[in-house]
This record gives sequence, structure tokens and C-alpha cells, in this order.
Amino acid sequence: MSEDLNLTGRCMCGAVTFTAIAEKPSVVVCHCDMCRRWSAGPFMAVGCQSVTFEGEENVSRIRSSDWAERGFCSKCGSNLFYHVVESSDYQIAAGLFDDQSNLRLSLQVFTDAKPEFYEFSNQTKMMTGEELIALFSPAAK
Ligand SMILES: [Zn+2]
Ligand SMILES: [Zn+2]
Repeated sequence: MSEDLNLTGRCMCGAVTFTAIAEKPSVVVCHCDMCRRWSAGPFMAVGCQSVTFEGEENVSRIRSSDWAERGFCSKCGSNLFYHVVESSDYQIAAGLFDDQSNLRLSLQVFTDAKPEFYEFSNQTKMMTGEELIALFSPAAK
């Protein structure tokens, strides 16, 4: 199960394409208020390393918190990633991948921030915002 996956993907208009490596084909859903405003719904992403963008000049980055930035295509507006600035990991939007056949929904975070009007039926691990922050707070300075 620890076979690295070589992934490719692109934004809606194709001005940004990328290659990335993922350890697991696991999709994380974030229900937090910021992600839902940014994505007009829950943000679904795959944790990736060794991310290389083609069309980097079309990648707009906004600093969304002290520790993280979010990227989107400046041509078509597709959301691309959430990125903790001081790490090499990118949470890449799941909808961008060319092949999504082996992706699995594995974790939902900020479940306490999820509005009532939707619910995923997938069996996943669940974490509240507090549980998630507790997991990362020793490292996140
Ligand atoms: Zn685009
Ligand atoms: Zn979020």
C-alpha cells in the first residue's frame, strides 16, 4: 500500500498543469468556513509531494493564514491547492486529477463546521477542527 502514485492534472482551462507524487490515493475533505467560502463547497484534496507546475505564471497565490497559502488559476479561477508555506506538501484539489479512478475519500476534517444541508455517505475518519489543530499545533508555529 505504500506505492507512490505519480499523478497529473490540470485546471479547467488548461493554463496550469502539474505533476505530483502522492503516498496514498486518499482524499481529505475540509468542511471549514474558509474552505467552503473559497470552494463554494467543501474542499476535497489529496496530499502531494514533489509538485511541479507548468504554467506557473498563471498560478495566483493568496496568503489565507499566517501559515498557509491557497493557489488558483488566474485565467479560469479553478482552485488548485492549499499549501502550508513552510512545507513541501501541497493539498491538491481532487477534481483536478486526470485519473480519479483510484482516489478514495478517507478523512473529513472540521466536521463541527459542516453545515446541515449536506452529508457524505462515505465511511471516513472524522475530525473536528479542535482535534485537527491539536494534531498539528506542536509543529505549527
Ligand atoms: Zn485555468
Ligand atoms: Zn478548510
